[in-house]
Amino acid sequence: MKKLNLKDYIRDIPDFPKKGILFKDITTLLKDKAALKAAVDSLARAFAKKDIKYVVGIESRGFIFGTALAYRLGTGFIPVRKKGKLPAKTRAVMYALEYGTDSLEIHADALKKGDKVVIVDDLLATGGTIAAAIKLVAGSGAKIEGVGFVIELSFLNGRKKLGGLPVFSVMQY
Ligand code: AMP
Repeated sequence: MKKLNLKDYIRDIPDFPKKGILFKDITTLLKDKAALKAAVDSLARAFAKKDIKYVVGIESRGFIFGTALAYRLGTGFIPVRKKGKLPAKTRAVMYALEYGTDSLEIHADALKKGDKVVIVDDLLATGGTIAAAIKLVAGSGAKIEGVGFVIELSFLNGRKKLGGLPVFSVMQY
């Protein structure tokens, strides 16, 4: 099969959700069956040999790729959600936004000490979101084998915030 250039399937939307942000739209990749498969397979290859027990996905675009990756790896999936969405007892971490703070939550009983996990989101920008998710997952004693993204905005140096954990991204800008 012809190798796809996955960047051809990412649509740039200037000034969304606000002026000055060049939004990387992944819906155009999701819509294409070959591009979707290639992106998920690429993530799966990166983590296939790590004996992963769970894929942890970050709301909401991390759910799309995270669940597909879990299916591909043959693991379970655990959601990390925005405040107030998970129904059972949760643990939370706060993180800084450009203006103010937000928090991410995980079910308190979702992970056990030593569980091997990979954390997935669609895009790594400044790294604030994934750093909060790492803190949340590490707090449960789980072993983070790596973090995976479909897109990495390398010029924002988000990787530097991730304490040397293995980082894999399908595409870099
Ligand atoms: P950050 O915490 O700065 O690494 O931002 C990562 C989160 O914000 C991810 O969940 C992305 O979905 C979203 N995000 C940040 N910048 C962009 C962008 N330029 N295009 C699309 N999504 C973005």
